[in-house]
Amino acid sequence: MLFDCAIIGGGPAGLSAALVLGRAKRKVLLLDEGRPRNAVTHESHGFLTRDGVEPGEFRAIAYQEIRRYPSVEVQEVRVVSVTRQEGYFEAVTEQGERFQAKTILLATGLKDVLPAIEGIHDYYGKSLFACPYCDGWERRDQPLVVISDSMSPYHVAKVVWNWSRDLLVCTNGQALLTAEEKESLERNKIQVVEDKIVALVGENGMLEKVVFAEQGESMRTGGFVGGWPVQASALGADLGCEINAQSRLVTDMLNRTTVKGVYAAGDTATPFAQLIMAAAEGSKAAAAVNMDLIEGEFL
Ligand SMILES: Cc1cc2nc3c(=O)[nH]c(=O)nc-3n(C[C@H](O)[C@H](O)[C@H](O)COP(=O)(O)OP(=O)(O)OC[C@H]3O[C@@H](n4cnc5c(N)ncnc54)[C@H](O)[C@@H]3O)c2cc1C
Repeated sequence: MLFDCAIIGGGPAGLSAALVLGRAKRKVLLLDEGRPRNAVTHESHGFLTRDGVEPGEFRAIAYQEIRRYPSVEVQEVRVVSVTRQEGYFEAVTEQGERFQAKTILLATGLKDVLPAIEGIHDYYGKSLFACPYCDGWERRDQPLVVISDSMSPYHVAKVVWNWSRDLLVCTNGQALLTAEEKESLERNKIQVVEDKIVALVGENGMLEKVVFAEQGESMRTGGFVGGWPVQASALGADLGCEINAQSRLVTDMLNRTTVKGVYAAGDTATPFAQLIMAAAEGSKAAAAVNMDLIEGEFL
């Protein structure tokens, strides 16, 4: 079976693309290992009509809708390689199964790289988050912390300040803030601690305090972490797709990567990492896949 499109990744980007391509009568294979970026959270926010939905429920509704379209096949597998063959692409799964498709849509998402602090994973997704647009409202006006030890926390702090004026910025022992940034934070009454964090204290993932090596401790109920997420899979790089300085796959307005026949949507390509953006990008990429296939079929 030669599929019209193999979609790799079944987050909102891949699922949305599958829906649009299914409705376009395309033979689609959706290959997904089921480890979305927001799996650590209990609620997703900001997706109109689904604000506050549990991530698993969001996926369940999506799969229910996709099952209405018989030309879409779904397999829960990890893809380990995609190669270009004569006139088609071949995807190989961890189990060694091979699938052929005319086009590939990468919707594999990103993976977060958290600050190097013991136990931080216990809090991530429960009281420490990546994005204030997603989780700022629930923490509004609380004593919050912004932690980043790989890039300047200045921009994140400035944005989080919109949700809470009781803000502490930590660099976990790294000198990442410029003198101007420190002055600006001080002007806005944002406290800065550059000391190493030795412990995060709390219960059931709910942060209570941050403990420093030499500068005591600070009571905080939650916060946000800074850092560059990385591609969740190397498939785009292996195919030769160009990747930009922010570690995203470079695409044109219609989600075509720099490799003909390979498309990318969602966090893997967009600089604005949100569920609704990923879904929109998936829809746009699917229309591009369909249009480019029509160009090759229409006499
Ligand atoms: C803690 C946290 C909370 C968040 N909260 C919100 C929120 O409230 N609202 C919001 O709008 N956004 C939120 N986000 C952002 C949101 O999770 C992402 O923007 C969104 O998941 C991106 O969708 P996607 O389809 O691009 O990728 P993902 O949802 O990450 O899905 C990618 C899929 O591809 C699969 N995959 C990867 N590699 C392979 C492979 N080789 N083979 C097969 N499958 C593969 C993965 O397992 C995964 O299922 C949050 C992010 C984080 C980290």
